[in-house]
This record gives sequence, C-alpha cells and structure tokens, in this order.
Amino acid sequence: MPDHDRPDTPAAALAALLDGNRRFVAGSPEHPHQDAAHRAHTADGQHPFAVILGCSDSRVAAEIVFDRGLGDLFVVRTAGHMLGAEVLASLEFAVSALGAPLIVVLGHDRCGAVTAALGAHDDGATPTGFLRTIVERLGPEVLAAQARRIDDPAAVGELHVRSTAERILDGSPAIAEAVAAGRCAIVGMTYALASGQVRTIASHGLPAGPAGAEPPVTSRDRRPRPRTVRRGR
Ligand SMILES: [Zn+2]
Repeated sequence: MPDHDRPDTPAAALAALLDGNRRFVAGSPEHPHQDAAHRAHTADGQHPFAVILGCSDSRVAAEIVFDRGLGDLFVVRTAGHMLGAEVLASLEFAVSALGAPLIVVLGHDRCGAVTAALGAHDDGATPTGFLRTIVERLGPEVLAAQARRIDDPAAVGELHVRSTAERILDGSPAIAEAVAAGRCAIVGMTYALASGQVRTIASHGLPAGPAGAEPPVTSRDRRPRPRTVRRGR
C-alpha cells in the first residue's frame, strides 16, 4: 500500500528531495522512515518516489544526503554514474513497474572518474584494467568539453551529468514516454562534498522553476539548444 505522504508527482518528488538535502546541510536531519514500524510496513511492497543514479563515491550516499529512509529511494550507483544496459534496465524498472515519478542523475565535485578520464586524455596514455572502461566511456564527453575549451574538472563533471540525463531519455523509450506524458521527470544534480549541498543543473519534463530548484538549463523541447555551460571558460 502506498504511503499517504509519498510524493506522487515529479515536482513534489523533487521538492521532497531538496527539503531533505536542506535538513542534511543544516545538520538537522530527521532520518524519516528508518524506524522498525516503517521497516515492517514496507516489507510487503515498495513505492519509491525517486530513482537516484549516482556515483559510487563513498561520500555521496543517497539516503543520507537527501535525508530519507527505507522504501523512499530506488538507488543505482556506479563509478562516475556510468550508464550501461543493466543500469538502464534498473531505472526503467523503477519508473515502469514501481511508478517512480522522478529520476535524479547525481554527480559530484572532485569525482575520481572524471579526473581519471581528464588525466588520460591529457597525457594520451590509455590506462589498463577498470580505469580503461571509465576513460573509454567518458572519452566522448571529455572530447566534447575540449572542443568547447572546457577543462575544469567540475565543469566537465557537470557536462557528464547533463549528458547522462540525455542518454537515459535516448536509451529508454519507456522512460522517454513517461517523461513526455508527465508521469516522470529527469533531473541532473551535482553534490558538493564539503558543504553537502545539491544543485540542480539540468531538467527534463518539469515545468520551469520547480520549488527550490534553479531554473532548468537544458531541455529537449528547446531548439536551438541553449548554451548550458556557465563555468570553465
Ligand atoms: Zn564520483
């Protein structure tokens, strides 16, 4: 049975996440839905109100930074929030089968995956092992950033968040349909390790200026495409 207080629209879900982040930043978290009664209540089924595709970085734990608890967030985390078939399938499941009204791509500053990709492109050396996969996946975005004379890691990280959000829409017809119908939205955010604050930098499927968020800076509805990079020039 869905919780009566579960946010059921994209805008309400985003507002709930931003509220939780404000509590976390202020050092006054409420730790909702972490008690034994709620644990028992959610055992029969899950109705998460947001899907988080975040970096695996140990300092960017979704339930903590958004001050949420059991059953609230459907979380997928990979190094550098890399998007592959399994990840896309997980996101699609959360939207199509569980009815989650919001997907958040959560990047962060000082991301090791972004730093590794930039370093490999700077020195021209292709790393081996797991780093190779990360560098190869991020390669096109690093090149796109270089073409725009962007080499600041934070700005490249933001490009990567925006690009990941767009690739979710491109890669999943089911999610694209849910966004077009207004049942779901996709938001890109970056998280600041030191302050704990999230910042909304991209949005698909939300009305302009949702509560507490900065105005969306990318949209598939706009043509020609607006300039979306505000730093690193
Ligand atoms: Zn990272």
